[in-house]
Amino acid sequence: MKLTVLGTGDTVGTPKIGCDCEVCKAALARGLERLRSTYLIEVEGHHILIDTSPDLRKQLLLAGSPKIDAVLWTHAHYDHIAGYNEFYRIQKYPPGYAAKGVMDDVAKYFHFVDFKKYPQTPYVPFELFGIKFTFVEVNHPGMYTCGVIIENNGKKIGITSDTNDVLSDRTVAAFENCDIMFIDALMNPTIHIGKHMNYAEAIAFADRVKPKEFHLVHMSHNIPLDWKYVCHDGFSVEI
Ligand SMILES: [Zn+2]
Ligand SMILES: [Zn+2]
Ligand SMILES: [Zn+2]
Repeated sequence: MKLTVLGTGDTVGTPKIGCDCEVCKAALARGLERLRSTYLIEVEGHHILIDTSPDLRKQLLLAGSPKIDAVLWTHAHYDHIAGYNEFYRIQKYPPGYAAKGVMDDVAKYFHFVDFKKYPQTPYVPFELFGIKFTFVEVNHPGMYTCGVIIENNGKKIGITSDTNDVLSDRTVAAFENCDIMFIDALMNPTIHIGKHMNYAEAIAFADRVKPKEFHLVHMSHNIPLDWKYVCHDGFSVEI
């Protein structure tokens, strides 16, 4: 299977509207964007999304307009779900998979959409098209949120989703020994925000759970484009 990061930005995106900071100016000059959080998984002709950002229309066009067979949601913040309505008049709304609490929040937000809901129990794996997924509870104060573990061919990818670094032992254990990790790193190391990790905290977390490789995502315009470990939209991995 192949996983592509379709968006590495925070809820605001980079460039930020109306901002003339060095990072936003550099992004504009280089034609680079950090769109909001969506991951695309391709497996034997099937396509699965993790989160459906407000940039989903553009992200699907850039990815070659795949037909989406299933959607997983990590939590119900705007930047992770709002794009689900982009399926309107494009294709049948794909079935949704999320931890029960997340599914309830998403269903409330999309009360006007009729779609199949498959609520899941955190830490209990489920399978889609031969890929094993497991939701694990993370710590994103103010919103119930889960990270995702993806397993295929004896390899493991971990996605923290939005979280700070105060995680339960069970979740830390689930993230241990990933082959590849994508870790929330909202701010540069000078700024600490309780709802997310910053760049330094994300690197320290990687050092704790020891993935073979890791990439930082969900970054604000506050993090320069060329810092080490910074992931870019369109980056993909295969396991
Ligand atoms: Zn977010
Ligand atoms: Zn800026
Ligand atoms: Zn969030």
